[in-house]
Amino acid sequence: MSNSQVSDLLRQAGLRLTAPRERILQSLLEAGAPLTQEQIAERLGASAPNKTTIYRTLMSLAGKGLVHRAYLGERTWHFEPAHHCSQHQCHPHFTCTRCRKTRCMTQVKAPLLALPKGYRLERQSIRIEGVCSACTARK
Ligand SMILES: [Zn+2]
Ligand SMILES: [Zn+2]
Ligand SMILES: [Zn+2]
Repeated sequence: MSNSQVSDLLRQAGLRLTAPRERILQSLLEAGAPLTQEQIAERLGASAPNKTTIYRTLMSLAGKGLVHRAYLGERTWHFEPAHHCSQHQCHPHFTCTRCRKTRCMTQVKAPLLALPKGYRLERQSIRIEGVCSACTARK
């Protein structure tokens, strides 16, 4: 994802371009996996904005629907880009039972499940467990 694509996303969402917004959105787009605030700071290295700025930036990105919390069922909040998701469905997540890494399966499309009468679906997200391609190759 190039820097101009990142600034396009921000502009389309009506957000002013700031260095933290661009850098944080870019690192989430490049990660291919949901990240905690600490992991975002790690990826940005020594020049990472402080914790408060990271948190506020994530909230402003989330407020415009560019980013959202990943539905991982974990206590720590993980954030990820939302451009592959719809209002009713978040892309599936795959957790490897060997290396324990969780990856975004944005290329996998699942049909919305039919619920019993009287139930209304607000959001569907699917978690998959298995062995990832790297661990499969390693045997
Ligand atoms: Zn999503
Ligand atoms: Zn693995
Ligand atoms: Zn994801």
